[in-house]
Amino acid sequence: MKIKTAHLLLLATVLLAAPAVAWAPLGHRLVGDLAQRQLTPTAQREVKRLLAGEKEPSLAGVANWADELRNTDPARFKATSKWHYVNHANQQCVFNAEADCKDGNCVVTQIDRQLAILKDPTQPIQARRDALKFVVHLVGDVHQPMHSSDHGDAGGNGYQVSLKTRVEPEAYAKDKYKNGVMGTNLHSMWDYYVLGESGMRSREYADKLWASTHGRPRATRVGDPALWAQESCELVDAWGVYPESHEEDSAEYAKAMRPLAERRVAQGGYRLAVLLNSALDPAYRAPVDLPQK
Ligand SMILES: [Zn+2]
Repeated sequence: MKIKTAHLLLLATVLLAAPAVAWAPLGHRLVGDLAQRQLTPTAQREVKRLLAGEKEPSLAGVANWADELRNTDPARFKATSKWHYVNHANQQCVFNAEADCKDGNCVVTQIDRQLAILKDPTQPIQARRDALKFVVHLVGDVHQPMHSSDHGDAGGNGYQVSLKTRVEPEAYAKDKYKNGVMGTNLHSMWDYYVLGESGMRSREYADKLWASTHGRPRATRVGDPALWAQESCELVDAWGVYPESHEEDSAEYAKAMRPLAERRVAQGGYRLAVLLNSALDPAYRAPVDLPQK
């Protein structure tokens, strides 16, 4: 009986923790899909080789693997859960490895580390496959503004919102949904509602974004993971991501924030493609960033 209760408690903890580190399956799929369209033929072949045997052997298909570990391999998920975000300790958006990324356990450092494994032909293929899946996921995460926070509330997880929405939550959160109002927090709003309110499926949505940006959003420099985290962090205040009220209308909030979310998805896709082309195609030359004024 005791064991059973412990199991249930563990399960409840895992399920309640569920929204904490996702940029919604949709956002991750979009980043993967847009990146795949920008791979060189050589990089495409390498990705295909590395993902052979996957249920859905594409960047979009593996983009949520790192979040799915929560259920498929809880121990590994626990060991890697801090890789999905960075909290800026000193309330400034500029990344400081010592203060913000203890033992390399944050999104900025892990993108570099996983990329190094992916690039290394002496690594076993299984290690390179997992590294690829982490890179795809983490580049998506670092572009989600709430994954790079300086508000001291765990990326908006501590900012409670009563959200008026027609989007029904997944089974684990059903008990928080009453009379069209979802008891949630700002982080989850970004994970599930800002893009989710569009009602579009990922391929259709990727086609739309591709048509409007041709993969490369205007004035996007390649930069590096620390810059991407800094951008995310600065965009939170620049766009007024924190609503004034703790009661919000999901459709209205999503309408106001979707241009930002879509821009971050497109930037993530473009930058992910540059990283993967650089890692997997020896003939590829990454675009050189012009100095910013
Ligand atoms: Zn994540």
